[in-house]
Amino acid sequence: MWDQPAPELRPTVRPNAAGMDLAELKALVAALGESPFRAGQLHHGLYRMRWTSWEQFTNLSKPLRARLEAEVDLAWPAIQESAASGDGSTKHAFLMTDGALVEGVHMPYGKRTTLCLSSQVGCAMGCTFCATGLMGIKRNLSAGEIAGQVVAMLNAHGHGTEEAVNLVFMGMGEPLHNLDNLMKAFALLTDPKGLGIAPWRITVSTSGLVTGIQRLGACKPRPRLALSLNATTDDYRSRIMPVNRVWNLEALATTLETFPLESGERITLEYVLLKDVTDSLEDGKRLAAFAARFPAKVNLIPFNPHEGSGFEPPTEERVGELCGLLAGRGITVSVRRSRGQDVAGACGQLVRERGKA
Ligand code: SAH
Ligand code: SF4
Repeated sequence: MWDQPAPELRPTVRPNAAGMDLAELKALVAALGESPFRAGQLHHGLYRMRWTSWEQFTNLSKPLRARLEAEVDLAWPAIQESAASGDGSTKHAFLMTDGALVEGVHMPYGKRTTLCLSSQVGCAMGCTFCATGLMGIKRNLSAGEIAGQVVAMLNAHGHGTEEAVNLVFMGMGEPLHNLDNLMKAFALLTDPKGLGIAPWRITVSTSGLVTGIQRLGACKPRPRLALSLNATTDDYRSRIMPVNRVWNLEALATTLETFPLESGERITLEYVLLKDVTDSLEDGKRLAAFAARFPAKVNLIPFNPHEGSGFEPPTEERVGELCGLLAGRGITVSVRRSRGQDVAGACGQLVRERGKA
């Protein structure tokens, strides 16, 4: 269960440079009897240049490259399968070194690109509407496996870091159930000498682990926070999100009221609309009241159907009514048009469908 830590990636005999931070790279070069300066060159190659093989490290001598190759792996997550959608987004299945598969999505919107990332293999939270939840938890992703999804997608789609890249942890897994690796990945992703992604361009979405939210709030710098609210009464939320039986709506609201926000920062409230379960106009009113308690914006997400879930998406008419109701109460609201729906868009669905094939 999620009150226990998830298993970690089992280390192999050879270390993997992909995912090492500067301190670890320094230890690596020291063990090889090299100057600490080489660690900076390795760091540059890994995170600024996003090199994927030792041959590409032309900033190092050939003999050193050969020694590195003999001792250390350089294994970023590999793109095992990609599915391009008519709307321009591409869903990728990433193969990890131990055979685990997770998903990421590349979503270009004009000049900016959003990458949706996974934080765990499967998920322990057991939300009943979610394909990943149905898989259960396999293990945590390491920091290198988390940051590596960004490296792999930027390499596959030919982006420079100068283009605006937003990251959202809305793929597989509960990021706050893997907070140590998540924050190490956050440091790799935001390092100005490496990938250089601004902290405020990174959003972590949680199902509502209060202790994790509090730990995240104490981190500086930290990513932005999104909460998957998904229901407006404890009765319904506990039915579809078991975590609500531990931290209910009032516990969440008081935690978010005291979350230390930067000026102008707002917490995103994600709200999956399940037809006839969580999409009533009364839900809309309670959602507006919840969102008014702290600086928030609401993102309505029509349910993305998948086999065996037993839920249905709301009508377009109801989505419009709820949008109008929230906006009428002064709440900033947007609707997430599930991108890549034709390629098994919502979290966990591509990997789950592959697993069945
Ligand atoms: N575990 C985290 C982040 C991953 S889930 C969390 O729950 O917040 C990312 C978002 O996808 C969540 O808001 C979740 O409620 C939503 N989601 C999951 N399955 C979905 C589905 N079938 N259709 C629409 N949204 C879904
Ligand atoms: Fe896990 Fe999020 Fe899916 Fe819930 S919605 S099962 S927390 S991935």
